[in-house]
Amino acid sequence: MSIAERYQRLRSRLSELGGAGVRLLAVSKKQPVEAIAALADLGQRAFGENYLQEAVPKIQALQARKLEWHFIGRLQSNKCSEVAEHFDWCQSVDRLRLVEGLGRGRSRQQRPLQILLQVNVDGEVGKGGARPEELGALADATAAHPSLVLRGLMAIPAPDPDLGRRSTAFAALAESFRQLRSAHPQMDTLSMGMSEDYPEAIAAGSNMIRIGTALFGARV
Ligand SMILES: *Cc1c(COP(=O)(O)O)cnc(C)c1O
Repeated sequence: MSIAERYQRLRSRLSELGGAGVRLLAVSKKQPVEAIAALADLGQRAFGENYLQEAVPKIQALQARKLEWHFIGRLQSNKCSEVAEHFDWCQSVDRLRLVEGLGRGRSRQQRPLQILLQVNVDGEVGKGGARPEELGALADATAAHPSLVLRGLMAIPAPDPDLGRRSTAFAALAESFRQLRSAHPQMDTLSMGMSEDYPEAIAAGSNMIRIGTALFGARV
């Protein structure tokens, strides 16, 4: 199947499932510039990347197309200024040092950086993401920073073959989102769901899905 066929198929599946309210983030890690350009030609604007060194040359090569770039990978605090310089969104903020580093790194000449806080919904050890009880302080610090805009939450549930258990994790994230919104009503983005589980994520309230293999095929 071509990228164009996969894209059309996913778009029609999305309108069946969630209507126009669900944003599609195309996860282009390990995909060449040509594949990203092909999707952009079809109308896709938002792309997600995990690795800074891989992403920056792609972002620069595609600069004229005015795409929207989301950093979704594990972030080390010494890489914050580069992420803040090159990306429009960062979805993997899970500790205060990152809030500070991204805020400091974002120039006042740029639009504020759009932030999602990453939550470790199933307590998986060694994985990125804040604990739910840490979210309040992270949200307050993000919202208070003039170079950052707090947009919502992101999670990557454990890759459990039992989709029912992933649905439980999605529901927990949706509940954290609802609670945090009482203090931060401007939050509008709940980023959950990937190629294997986006229907379950949308059913639980996701309004941004992050799709790699279902769009581009297997990563090389
Ligand atoms: C790779 C990745 C995705 C996309 O995964 P697919 O299963 O290929 O759709 C989504 N989110 C994050 C954070 C990722 O690292």
